[in-house]
Amino acid sequence: MTCPTFFPGSRRPQQPVDLTVVREILEEQRDFRVEQLCELRRSLATGGTVAALTASGTSGSAVSMSVADSADADPHGQVAALLAQAADAALAEIEAALTRLDSGSYGRCESCASPIANERLEILPYARYCVSCQRQSQLGAGHPAGRISV
Ligand SMILES: [Zn+2]
Repeated sequence: MTCPTFFPGSRRPQQPVDLTVVREILEEQRDFRVEQLCELRRSLATGGTVAALTASGTSGSAVSMSVADSADADPHGQVAALLAQAADAALAEIEAALTRLDSGSYGRCESCASPIANERLEILPYARYCVSCQRQSQLGAGHPAGRISV
């Protein structure tokens, strides 16, 4: 059994994604996350606020945004700890994607082995699963991959 396709009008096989571009994007994101983790750990060590970082660094993430809202009431650095956790998880996903690029398995669903749609890889270059498998994992109880994706 294979994953159903949701593109009835299109019989053409999808163009392969440009892996050179993908690698550049992933390396850029990895650098960003590494930098972000450094900032967060420094802030955790000094007990400083991470409000500026949450405002500029992690826009687009619902988790981070809601955490950032509570930054004012954070005497124990819990916000920074949570953000560091999220950045750490994202970094692990990015590095896993780079490993898949090296091994040639990039762009295939880790669950059903179907090709992941280009549109999805453009939005989420380190996606492990195709849309339907991702949806199933998100229905499950708090799968880590589900929490950090869009
Ligand atoms: Zn799949």
